[in-house]
Amino acid sequence: MARYTDSVCKLCRRERQKLFLKGQKCYTEKCPVEVRNYPPGQHGLSRRAKVSEYGVQLREKQKIKRMYGLLETQFRNYFEVANKAKGRTGENLIQILESRLDNVVYRLGFVSSRKQARQLIRHRHVLINDRPVDIPSFLLAPGDIVKIKEKSKKLDMIHSSLKRVKDHTYPWLSIDKASLSGTFIQIPERTDVPLNANEQLVVELYSK
Ligand code: SF4
Repeated sequence: MARYTDSVCKLCRRERQKLFLKGQKCYTEKCPVEVRNYPPGQHGLSRRAKVSEYGVQLREKQKIKRMYGLLETQFRNYFEVANKAKGRTGENLIQILESRLDNVVYRLGFVSSRKQARQLIRHRHVLINDRPVDIPSFLLAPGDIVKIKEKSKKLDMIHSSLKRVKDHTYPWLSIDKASLSGTFIQIPERTDVPLNANEQLVVELYSK
């Protein structure tokens, strides 16, 4: 499968916003968005071109896609599913993205980025309802329990990440730090998801 291999911090700087792609560094003052909040490249500081409506929509789509660590085809497929489902397409899209296993492992605080979550899952450190699942895109259903495998509970990555997590994380998740497990209680309401993005612009972009 194709992968993005350049510096992920460039992606944040391109959007002039933290996308939290790098793990612990994102939570420190070394984050490049904190230090150089302008687009990367030779003309990054000076370029102030007027952005078209299409450009604004495109940037918003790129931002959401990159936050969740997806490539275009996968993101577009989620959009098609969201579009066919009942309700508002933009909200449906965010709800699908939030139901992905890699996202939930990240939101539970077992890792510091969705990328680390994918690594943890692919290396078979994660169980869902006591069964190993190594598919980061696995979509959770309400009531599913996500657990770190017994043998993997000593991983440094997990404990250093958990230090920055409060016991109560998000209203649609519950976490038990002692057993390194969490429950996906329900599909989140869009208003509860802390996502600094306007998914309606994605709907407008793909509806052209
Ligand atoms: Fe890099 Fe994280 Fe800062 Fe983004 S938020 S620029 S990934 S350190």
